[in-house]
Formats: sequence, C-alpha cells, structure tokens
Amino acid sequence: MSIAENLKQVLAELPQGVRLVAVSKFHPNEAIEEAYQAGQRIFGESKVQEMTAKYESLPKDIEWHFIGHLQSNKIKYMIPYVAMIHGIDTYKLLAEVNKQAVKAGRIINCLLQIHVAQEETKFGFSPDECKDMLNTGEWKELTHVRICGLMGMASNTDNVEQINREFCLLDRLFKEIKTTWFADSDAFRELSMGMSHDYHEAIAAGSTLVRVGSKIFGERNY
Ligand SMILES: *Cc1c(COP(=O)(O)O)cnc(C)c1O
Repeated sequence: MSIAENLKQVLAELPQGVRLVAVSKFHPNEAIEEAYQAGQRIFGESKVQEMTAKYESLPKDIEWHFIGHLQSNKIKYMIPYVAMIHGIDTYKLLAEVNKQAVKAGRIINCLLQIHVAQEETKFGFSPDECKDMLNTGEWKELTHVRICGLMGMASNTDNVEQINREFCLLDRLFKEIKTTWFADSDAFRELSMGMSHDYHEAIAAGSTLVRVGSKIFGERNY
C-alpha cells in the first residue's frame, strides 16, 4: 500500500479529538510530501538536525513535533519553528527551552515525558519526580513555555494487558496533574501516547495525540 493509503487507514481509525503525529524520522522529504499531499500537516521527528533540514525544505504550514530525546545544546536550533516538544524530562530542560524561547520571542508548547514502561532504557520523569517538580512551583516563572500535557511510551511487549496497564496509569496521572496544577489551563489537554503497534490501546485509554511512524511510512532502515 502507498503512504497515502496507509495514512487514510490510520486516520479513519481515530475518534474525534485524537490527532495524528505522522512520525517521519529517517524517511526522506518525498515520503513526507506524499503524506502532505494526502492532507497530513503534523509530523514528528527525533533528531534536531534532521528536523531542521526538513523544515527548511518543506512547506511552511507543516507543524513539526519533536519527539526525540532532548539535548540541551541543540534546543536553540528548533526554537524558531517547532510546534511542540514532547520529551521534556527534567526541570533543567524545561528551563533551557524557556531561556531559548525568551531570546526568540516565542512561547513553546511542551509535554512532560513520563516513564511508565518496564525498560530501563526509556527516558522520562517517574510519576513522583514529575509531581515533585510541579510542587516546587518554579515552572510557573517560566513565561515562554506552555505545558500542554504528558507524553509516554508503553513497554515494547506483546503483553497487551501490560500495555493497557501502563497507558491507564498515564491517563490517571494526566487527570491528577490536570486537576491539581492545571485546572485553570485550557492548554493542558494533550496526552501523547500510542505508536504503530499500540495506538489502539492508547486511544482506548484516553490518548489525544498518537505518534505513528512505520505503519504509515514503512519500516525504517537504521
Ligand atoms: C519512532 C517513534 C515513534 C513511532 O514509532 P513507530 O513504531 O514507527 O510508529 C513514536 N514515538 C516515539 C517517541 C518514537 O521515537
């Protein structure tokens, strides 16, 4: 099937209120253009250099979402154009995004990444670390970042019950954080979870943003 057909199939499965981040990392501009022609406007990338090169050469109404692990020295390169940063996992990174955003005169949409999977290798705040960070209140001084919600990944496993448990944990945490710290914020409304192999479970658990790559663009060669 073509990229356009894959894309239509995924979009047809999304209920109202769930948006698609088409994860185009390691795929060439031509692949993105095909999805763009089919109407997709939100794309996700995991390397700043690659995303910036694509931003510069592709249509300017694309919304670029950074879904990779953040390195503080690379933040400044995406600040002029990035639409959302999904992987904030320390207060320090949030403060660095804010600092660069002040310089650029932009307000940057950010998601706090939460670690719920079994694998040690995945990044993110633990639920308690995230709540401790919010409890300090220091983040309220960061005028140029907008905390829009949470992002997380389930374990890479065939155990669907485990995946469901992890997504439900993320959804409960999302609601608790919303009620406790963001009850007055219209911006805090995104729960970014679900990839090619588990986005159905993620949607059932309350995802508002699914990040789907290989199901649309095919396997990556890396
Ligand atoms: C690569 C990646 C995805 C997309 O993964 P697929 O399995 O190709 O859908 C989603 N989220 C993150 C954080 C990723 O790094």
